[in-house]
Amino acid sequence: MAEEVFDIVIVGGGPAGLTAGIYVSRARMKSILVEKQGPGGSPALSERIENYPGFPEGISGFELVDRMRRQAEHFGLEINAYNPVNSIRDEGGTKVLETDEGELRTLGVIVATGMRPALLGVPGEEEFLGKGVSYCATCDGAFFKDATVAVIGGGNSAAEEALFLTRFAKKVIIVHRRDRLRAGKILQEKVLSNPNIEVKWNKVVKEVLGNGKVRGLVLANPEGGDEEEIKVDGVFLYVGNIPNTEALRGILELDDGGYVVTDSKLKTSVDGIYAAGDVRSGAIRQVVVAVGEGARAAMAAQSYVDTIKGTAYI
Ligand code: NAP
Repeated sequence: MAEEVFDIVIVGGGPAGLTAGIYVSRARMKSILVEKQGPGGSPALSERIENYPGFPEGISGFELVDRMRRQAEHFGLEINAYNPVNSIRDEGGTKVLETDEGELRTLGVIVATGMRPALLGVPGEEEFLGKGVSYCATCDGAFFKDATVAVIGGGNSAAEEALFLTRFAKKVIIVHRRDRLRAGKILQEKVLSNPNIEVKWNKVVKEVLGNGKVRGLVLANPEGGDEEEIKVDGVFLYVGNIPNTEALRGILELDDGGYVVTDSKLKTSVDGIYAAGDVRSGAIRQVVVAVGEGARAAMAAQSYVDTIKGTAYI
């Protein structure tokens, strides 16, 4: 029996991958979405998304991506969750994806593996992970009722999650390494006018202190001077992200930060492999953009596969 060959395999089940899934399944391509964890990607952990069009009151990140998943499955997309892709090789036309559950052969691939939170790399960070150190306020915020917590970082994630944490914590201390936030203006206004949020400007974390669980932080200025100790019960880290591209090294061109390089049609350095969403070099990291790129990558991949098959049948 001939080995099964998919038209398109989508790698990653965040907004970009799920949207690509909606498009390829509606185009009746023989396709599957493989996902390292459950579908949803990083927005699933966002408490509220206020800038996705069509939801004037905002929508929880989980609900938004769950709707995308249901829509893709409604059109017949098969989702293979908890099955990481470990490598991809190009066998001259057919791509072979090696996964924990075996090999998948396909003509086209859409990479939508997104990114994961970066670590600070300071003493105590790993030791107290799950014991007061967290990368997810939506998951762990409720454990900090009436507590004092620190949020590290000055981007949109830090600002949004600091605001969310004020629902539980009596005090939220944002620790930021510069003298102004990177977050968008509306978020900055909300953060800076919230009486339960204090910002420690021009400070970095030198160490997470604790005894079984987090009890404080050692802060210093970015050059290392002016050390101070602050008491906190929890630390939420939002200091940027790392692209999930380990499985792509050696096959796709990556930029210096490890993000996938594409052309303007979202084609990577390998014919038949496309990339969409946060994993892409130069991407604007917004759900609405990831969704648009998922659709574009799906249409480009579909056209590639149709061409290959058309050639094969002549
Ligand atoms: P980000 O925008 O890269 O911000 C990371 C923050 O951490 C920056 O403020 C950075 O400081 C700081 N930082 C980095 N390394 C550090 C270190 N070693 N020590 C201390 N501070 C450090 O990351 P993000 O907030 O996770 O957002 C990622 C992307 O998603 C962005 O493009 C963002 O716009 C987007 N996003 C959008 C929304 C929304 O639109 N509602 C929500 C969430 C995320 P500097 O400012 O000095 O660089």
